[in-house]
Amino acid sequence: MPDALIDINDSPFQRMPVEPVLLEGNATFPFQCRKGISCWNACCSNIDISLTPYDILRLKKRLGMSSGDFLNAYTLPYEMDKDSIAGVKFKPVEGGTACQFMTPEGCSVYEDRPTACRYYPIALLSMRKQDEYTDTAAYAMVKEAHCKGHDEPRPITIEDYRKEQGVDVYDELGRGWRQLVLKKKSSGPTVGTPSKRSLQLFFMACYDQDRFREFVSSDAFHDVYELTAEEKLTIANDDIELMQFAFRFLRQVMFNETTIPLRADAMEKRLARKQEREAKMEEIVKKLGPLDDIVKPAEPEDKYRCAD
Ligand code: SF4
Ligand code: SF4
Repeated sequence: MPDALIDINDSPFQRMPVEPVLLEGNATFPFQCRKGISCWNACCSNIDISLTPYDILRLKKRLGMSSGDFLNAYTLPYEMDKDSIAGVKFKPVEGGTACQFMTPEGCSVYEDRPTACRYYPIALLSMRKQDEYTDTAAYAMVKEAHCKGHDEPRPITIEDYRKEQGVDVYDELGRGWRQLVLKKKSSGPTVGTPSKRSLQLFFMACYDQDRFREFVSSDAFHDVYELTAEEKLTIANDDIELMQFAFRFLRQVMFNETTIPLRADAMEKRLARKQEREAKMEEIVKKLGPLDDIVKPAEPEDKYRCAD
């Protein structure tokens, strides 16, 4: 296994034919993107953009949508690694390759554009030692022929470009997710192949945030996990706290890093709830008589969505 891992899954360069050039943060490069440039919107016309949980949080809030509606309208799931860990990408316009947010005037969600769009033409590379969470940032630059920003006479360091594009907060709030993905990719057989249920949990906790909020507010969740009243209130009302809690929850589920206390009577409560559900179902069945005539087969479940 390699000593350090590099991940560019959260960059827009995964399928680009151009080799990225590795750079340090203090490296200077000539670049400026401005309205009126001859290639205006070229980069947004043919997209392959992965989203972080924080990207989704910002965009769904801007658009006033639930996470579920946002995911359905604007994204497609994809497999980030051989074990089907799910990522989410922008879904382009119907029948085309352009971003749904592209307009002749430019990006219609500019203030809330995702991390990859902010970084372009730089990509953030996460590198870390095997089985550690601490990652080191490195950068790559990709020069695509259509992008004339590279011909503009404005030298800028990567650090200044990051500030200009407002990526600091995105990097900070995307770190927990990047670290989870990197750890999963590097853990190999020690962690094992994730179950379908844990893949669904990963998808919901990372991307379908409103659904995850419902899940952590449910009696079933509190039968198992012990949260303080303050924690419950914070994650119910603060999107960012909920997202950070999701990363913590997933580290516990995927890597057995227990930071959320389990209730001593968790198993008994779950069993009692299951028995209660089964008793109710039996009662309904008795009232309805034979079910064959009235129960239609269920729709096939979306691969990553949790059934409850
Ligand atoms: S979100 Fe905005 S910047 Fe990003 S690809 Fe779409 S239009 Fe372009
Ligand atoms: S200069 Fe590059 S980033 Fe700016 S619009 Fe043109 S292709 Fe896109």
